[in-house]
Amino acid sequence: MSGIRIEDVRKRYGTGDTAVDALKGVDMVVAPGEVVGLIGPSGSGKTTLLKCLGAIIEPSAGRMTLGDDVIYDQGWLIPDLRALRRDKIGFIFQAPYLIPFLDVTDNVALLPMLSGDSNAQARTKALELLEALDVGHRGQAMPSQLSGGEQQRVAIARALVNRPPVILADEPTAPLDSERAMAVIRILNQMAKQFETAIIVVTHDEKIIPTFKRLYQIRDGRTEEQAGEGRAID
Ligand code: ADP
Ligand code: MG
Repeated sequence: MSGIRIEDVRKRYGTGDTAVDALKGVDMVVAPGEVVGLIGPSGSGKTTLLKCLGAIIEPSAGRMTLGDDVIYDQGWLIPDLRALRRDKIGFIFQAPYLIPFLDVTDNVALLPMLSGDSNAQARTKALELLEALDVGHRGQAMPSQLSGGEQQRVAIARALVNRPPVILADEPTAPLDSERAMAVIRILNQMAKQFETAIIVVTHDEKIIPTFKRLYQIRDGRTEEQAGEGRAID
């Protein structure tokens, strides 16, 4: 069974009087091919949860499984966290973090090249996704020449290009207009279906919340599962 399983994950920032318990025992399951929404007020621990799952920060306790591998059980069980992040996880951050001295296509082509694709193969894959996200015509531009929404779509292409089995998206549509926000959600749903990707989307975007079949609400560091509308995406 692949997908994502999170069991009783806790995260405390700092120690002593100033410690913050950001996650107080989170449970969550995402099946392969499923796109799940994660909602909750500001400061409720959404980004902290994605960063733990994405091996960007270390939880304080709990257990996390990606695909067939238990990656964390009261400590990391994977010796090479960089390889885990590169090969298994597509992370879409709230800010795009593009590499300023590479053009748009190379920003996206870099990961497949690092994973062994030839230059030409990697650029073809990159351009396909950039086209699908309506930024193919900006392939030769430098990141600084793009609008915020264009940069975000390039960052989304980069997160998807290696077809990782898990995608973690932190407010991916925040800088986008509603048509482009829906295009992003459509692509994420296509990825999920076509490649059995398990996807978590953190959002407070009212336009996209009705598209999820299943949601988790996080409040005060704990999750509750909710049924969503699962509205069709046209
Ligand atoms: P959300 O993404 O839901 O807005 P976060 O996960 O960013 O919430 O934050 C959850 C809680 O953890 C907040 O109280 C926040 O202030 C705190 N927090 C986040 N990052 C850190 C950090 N690096 N050090 C200390 N506290 C942090
Ligand atoms: Mg956040």
